[in-house]
Amino acid sequence: MNASKDSAHDDLAPIRESVRALCADFPGEYWRRLDRERAYPEEFVTALTKAGFLAALIPEEYGGSGLTMTAAAAIMEEIQAAGCNGAGCHAQMYTMGTLLRHGSVEQKKRYLPAIARGELRLQAFGVTEPTSGTDTLALRTTAVRDGDSYLVNGQKIWTSRAEHSDLMLLLARTTPREQAKSRTGGLTVFLVDMRQARGHGLTIQPIRTMMNHATTEVFFENLRVPADGVIGQEGEGFRYILSGMNAERILIAAECIGDAKWFIGKATAYAGERVVFGRPIGQNQGVQFPIARAYIGMRAAELMVREAAALYEAGRDCGAEANMAKHLAAEASWAAADMCVQTHGGFGFAEEFDIERKFRETRLYTVAPISTNLVLSYIAEHVLGLPRSY
Ligand SMILES: Cc1cc2nc3c(=O)[nH]c(=O)nc-3n(C[C@H](O)[C@H](O)[C@H](O)COP(=O)(O)OP(=O)(O)OC[C@H]3O[C@@H](n4cnc5c(N)ncnc54)[C@H](O)[C@@H]3O)c2cc1C
Repeated sequence: MNASKDSAHDDLAPIRESVRALCADFPGEYWRRLDRERAYPEEFVTALTKAGFLAALIPEEYGGSGLTMTAAAAIMEEIQAAGCNGAGCHAQMYTMGTLLRHGSVEQKKRYLPAIARGELRLQAFGVTEPTSGTDTLALRTTAVRDGDSYLVNGQKIWTSRAEHSDLMLLLARTTPREQAKSRTGGLTVFLVDMRQARGHGLTIQPIRTMMNHATTEVFFENLRVPADGVIGQEGEGFRYILSGMNAERILIAAECIGDAKWFIGKATAYAGERVVFGRPIGQNQGVQFPIARAYIGMRAAELMVREAAALYEAGRDCGAEANMAKHLAAEASWAAADMCVQTHGGFGFAEEFDIERKFRETRLYTVAPISTNLVLSYIAEHVLGLPRSY
């Protein structure tokens, strides 16, 4: 692939190069072993932390690098484009916005410098529940005020990286739905210190999934969370989580662009060297065209990711662009994954080519963090003004 046309001209070339250099120490064998054992990429996450990449969005006054969303997106994209997987640590980037935008100065002082130094990990994001699913407002986990703390009861599902995180951003109901002042009111965001909570009302159970994602179920039974763990105002949590979700969508979209680039690069190389019927398979238009189509899809999605990131960092409303970026990029990476398997024929299924692993990994992103249908609903309702469908 012609890299200069893809990314090098975005003045983030030095950051991109350093991420690539770091990733070179974590080749396919490393990820294959972890995938087989469903093990956490501890060494990789530590290396990213030491290099300061996971503190990219933390302001300099709190010990981070104070970079933009565009830079953070470039970091996540390069990780995926190198064949690595940022899923073990991407939450620290996208949960950061909630703490930065809505957390108190005391909370920022208490946590951000330690996160930037790599002493604390903020990698767990507890929103989804088994019964509510995408209907976040129907979540059932409650937090009831009791003196200077809250008692939390309930359950989350798909809380990824909970076993490898010190802190969790938790969304719980503090006012019963029927008593809330507005449709979206009554939910509160807490910063939960899981080091103190585990074994004292917090239980974590891993869920084995089709790819290595360190995801879990989390149970709360009279877990006591200090009131100073509330982020922003009680009852306003849904609004904070929604604004944080834009960051999540942009960063995951960037990861999908990286995945798409990896699949396209692999397929192009293979199509050029694999000789069948006396000529490279890439000489056949039936093989070339799907690769070209995947490339076009990736480039178009990449533009939307950049637009969404630029709006986000300008403090402008980017709900539509973040959703569209995530949708286009997830579709582009999935199309590229499918094309890459097809281009490789039987070898696309062989573990040592890494394609089947990346194929499983990238499949997630048309479902999570938000599924395709829900993005379409958002655009239909909020951009096109069509009637609310749910
Ligand atoms: C590996 C993995 C990691 C995850 N990590 C996290 C995490 O760290 N933290 C967290 O909070 N969550 C996490 N999630 C949860 C993820 O965000 C949800 O799975 C996703 O939002 C979809 O929700 P659901 O699974 O409950 O699907 P459901 O809400 O049950 O939906 C199922 C299907 O029905 C469709 N659907 C539902 N309602 C409608 C409607 N009104 N109109 C049209 N279609 C509809 C959906 O699009 C979807 O395809 C993770 C999930 C997975 C699989």
